[in-house]
Amino acid sequence: MASGEQVDVIVIGAGMAGASAAAELSRDTRVLLLEMEGQPGYHTTGRSAAMYEPGYGPPGIRALTRAAGTFFHDPPEGFAEAPLVTPRGVLMIARADQSDTLDAMITEASAEGTVERLDADAARKLVPVLRDGYAVGAMLSKSGQDIDVHGLLQGYLRAFRARGGKLVTKAPVTGLTRTADAWTVETAAGTFNAPVVVNAAGAWADRIGALAGAETIGLTPRRRTALTIAAPEGVDVDGWPMTCDVDEAFYMKPDAGRLLISPANEDPEEPQDVQPDELDIAICIDRIETAFDLKVRRIESRWAGLRSFVADGEPVVGYSDVAPGFFWLAGQGGYGIQTAPALSRLAAALVLGRGVPDDIAAQGLVPEKLAPGRL
Ligand SMILES: Cc1cc2nc3c(=O)[nH]c(=O)nc-3n(C[C@H](O)[C@H](O)[C@H](O)COP(=O)(O)OP(=O)(O)OC[C@H]3O[C@@H](n4cnc5c(N)ncnc54)[C@H](O)[C@@H]3O)c2cc1C
Repeated sequence: MASGEQVDVIVIGAGMAGASAAAELSRDTRVLLLEMEGQPGYHTTGRSAAMYEPGYGPPGIRALTRAAGTFFHDPPEGFAEAPLVTPRGVLMIARADQSDTLDAMITEASAEGTVERLDADAARKLVPVLRDGYAVGAMLSKSGQDIDVHGLLQGYLRAFRARGGKLVTKAPVTGLTRTADAWTVETAAGTFNAPVVVNAAGAWADRIGALAGAETIGLTPRRRTALTIAAPEGVDVDGWPMTCDVDEAFYMKPDAGRLLISPANEDPEEPQDVQPDELDIAICIDRIETAFDLKVRRIESRWAGLRSFVADGEPVVGYSDVAPGFFWLAGQGGYGIQTAPALSRLAAALVLGRGVPDDIAAQGLVPEKLAPGRL
């Protein structure tokens, strides 16, 4: 796309949030998607645990996750070559000192009707390496799914291009200036103009807001580390559920024949290409070896990503109260993949001044509770 060209909407950031919103917006408008890296999805989107769990997160996130379910199970014709989701139970395990937390979790989750209480023996039937005597009880959720994150992101980018959308990579946005009725967006790949800018810059969203003279939303990027290790010799782990500590102190999940493990850390960081910390790795291995009859002999891969949160843990979706035509789509925390099919439709509707889509409103979503003004 030639420098100086005008479109209707410029979306900053080609992670899951920006790519999916750009695809939805390109149904009705001319959209330019700007990405600072050489490829979409390089930052948090490419580093997730790829889970869909409608019982996870604060109320707005849960409403969006439920509303996203239909898309995941039945995507539009031609969107993806393989199913976007496959079932993966989620087992929340509790030690004796965590029984109250487990009880409260079961009471809350039972309202949604898809969970079961298990005793330690039943939990060990599902995850045979669960250490004898470690857990006293568990909750099994049957609504969890593994998400094909690559398939989802590529599906959105394909749909975006097919609708005439343009993606420019290696285009870090360095300046945002408002004239009477449009933004001028300066990047290393040229200058572009549009009346509306969507800020989907992930961990960098407050920095982009500052360039535009918008309000700050108090976004905190938090580092989470993950590793993959070999499955125990001769054991097929593919059917195991994702197994999590009830206080979210660790999790373990089958991943293409191996095990993905994480200390579920949430360490505050500056926006950056974050790397795993040696201490996170040591803590992770210690917690996993304590809860499970497993010995971590070799780490096959390791990475870290930034989950970015505002104070109430809900995403920030809506026009700025101070910068005209500047739209926030940030703060997806640890839920930006599972919510994307609903969050992108909500964002596109609000950008275009339409109401909340009926199916999303039916899940109880209140847009004011996600608006930047609440912060
Ligand atoms: C270990 C881990 C496990 C997770 N597990 C799950 C899970 O199981 N399920 C789930 O739903 N979510 C999960 N998440 C969270 C999920 O990955 C995020 O919520 C989601 O990827 C956020 O997407 P995003 O597009 O907002 O951010 P990003 O993917 O980071 O995209 C933002 C983009 O903006 C670009 N950008 C930034 N600044 C500029 C600029 N100045 N100019 C141009 N471009 C710019 C960046 O390069 C980046 O590509 C997990 C995250 C981590 C780290």
